Amino acid sequence: MRVEEYLMPSADKRQLAAKRILPAKTTWQFILKRADNGCEWREDGQNCLLQENSIDPVGGGRVKLTPDHKQPHSIDPNADLRDPEQWQALCGRHQIIKKNYWNTMTGKLNVYAIIQSSTREEKLIAFKFLLDYFGYILQEDGQIERSTN
Ligand SMILES: [Zn+2]
Repeated sequence: MRVEEYLMPSADKRQLAAKRILPAKTTWQFILKRADNGCEWREDGQNCLLQENSIDPVGGGRVKLTPDHKQPHSIDPNADLRDPEQWQALCGRHQIIKKNYWNTMTGKLNVYAIIQSSTREEKLIAFKFLLDYFGYILQEDGQIERSTN
């Protein structure tokens, strides 16, 4: 199953998600200034900071910053187009990451997509967490057993 199919199972929802609002022009200029013309995506305590028109070392291609409304529109349909705090500048790669990892229909993280795209090491951590949560343990020989306590 592809992520897009997982996020948007019906044509109705796709139409809803396609409605795109943008901040006022002066607000967007303010945001770019605040962002120092860099992507404001924050992960692991670090900002992406990719600059407009630079080359994305991970995704390739030229960086084009676009406005992202922090709250999903479905949750906050009355976005203030003049409040820069409600918006952030994101590079193309992080727009895609946010779209895939953040379900705009429910306003919740798309946990499935996050785990799917994470490293094997991170998947193993999540796997062990789930085993523990459901009362199982992974033995050193790879067997899964019900935990005794
Ligand atoms: Zn970025």
